[in-house]
Amino acid sequence: MEIKAIRGFNDILPDEIGKWQFVENTAREIFEGFGFSEIRIPILERTELFSRGIGEATDIVEKEMYTFSDRSGNSLTLRPEATASMARAYLEHQLYTFDPVAKLYCLGPMFRYERPQKGRYRQFYQIDAEVFGVGNPMVDVEVILMLIHFLRRVGLEKLELQINSLGCPICRPRYREELKTFLTKRSFQLCEDCQRRLQTNPLRIFDCKVETCQEAIADAPKVSDFICPECQDHFEKVKKYLEMAGLVYILNPRMVRGLDYYTRTAFEVVSYQLGSQNAVTGGGRYDNLFQEIGGMDIPGIGFAIGMERLISLMPKEKEFIQRPHLFIAAMGGETQREAYQIINQLHLEGIRTELDYEGKSLKSQMRRADKLKARYALILGEEELKRGKAILRNMETKSQEEIPVGDLLSVLKKKVLL
Ligand code: ATP
Ligand code: MG
Repeated sequence: MEIKAIRGFNDILPDEIGKWQFVENTAREIFEGFGFSEIRIPILERTELFSRGIGEATDIVEKEMYTFSDRSGNSLTLRPEATASMARAYLEHQLYTFDPVAKLYCLGPMFRYERPQKGRYRQFYQIDAEVFGVGNPMVDVEVILMLIHFLRRVGLEKLELQINSLGCPICRPRYREELKTFLTKRSFQLCEDCQRRLQTNPLRIFDCKVETCQEAIADAPKVSDFICPECQDHFEKVKKYLEMAGLVYILNPRMVRGLDYYTRTAFEVVSYQLGSQNAVTGGGRYDNLFQEIGGMDIPGIGFAIGMERLISLMPKEKEFIQRPHLFIAAMGGETQREAYQIINQLHLEGIRTELDYEGKSLKSQMRRADKLKARYALILGEEELKRGKAILRNMETKSQEEIPVGDLLSVLKKKVLL
């Protein structure tokens, strides 16, 4: 029996990888330009990092984690998100002793046991950026500006930035009670999950996709009407700085985000091209996460971008396939040996070169050069080679020139590495 990949786990094949690398390289370039440094964190962590950090009564912790015991009986979890691990690393390595402010980013796979469908997988990739150690709303907008700038640079258009304030541990409990009272009167409308959420975490009901739940919550009180003066002030400043940065936003009082650790600013960037799985990226401030996992009072803000959803939105016309710079068509015997010398030399110079190893006819070799979309072909004929010459053909314009084999490298460097 043929062995297949696990459901919800994807291969990213060579014909797609160009897009991935472009996105990753662009993220690195832009984030580093904003003063961020890369951090690499483990795929596996102790389960309590996530259950405490993300919150027991969240969808992720309740039903989406890949949790198992290792051979010593420790409960471990494949990371469902990166923020908690990044915060753990910041505390564990006392990055704050050098400077309290750390601007970090991280790229890599996350794991969530969700129902696989378009735009929703069990292993998916995220690009994460976080700033630890600054509570000032200026940083909220710095992070949002970097995010929007990045999304535009990879070619996304028609994006909508939505923002909300989720309050803080001082004002949110009062809102929670208000919401609970409001929804208790309508609890007959709620699905089974939301009946439970009503007791454990009523804010989660905003995220429920069931229609009757959405109806029940339509006229619910808004968190932003309950936030304390400090949170209100923070939110007003965020809006002011967004305007200063020329960023258009809409207020979405129903956006609560899926993780318990968020406080104050929450944001999402959505694209209506994506259908129901429309959130490309989300983020927010989490001034309590560090309390939960390490008992320290350190503010943080950041975002996570879903790579698969981002890539599905990128413009189609852009070319990302790795085309060979050169295809060498050799005519057997001595020319084949010469071709082999050349290909090894060119590879050391970073010139992508393909060769026919089978000794096929010239016609069939040129067909393959076409199929691979090689930019140039070098035709090595017995006769020409005796004179130290070969024919270089531009595969796009079809023009040909005879060049000394010894000049090939310098000629190609000018043509393809510019
Ligand atoms: P959703 O509401 O779609 O479940 P989420 O709120 O769970 O998203 P976050 O935890 O904020 O998502 O993760 C940030 C981004 O990661 C999302 O905006 C999305 O692009 C991506 N993402 C989340 N879960 C998945 C998944 N199972 N498969 C693919 N991408 C995902
Ligand atoms: Mg989710």
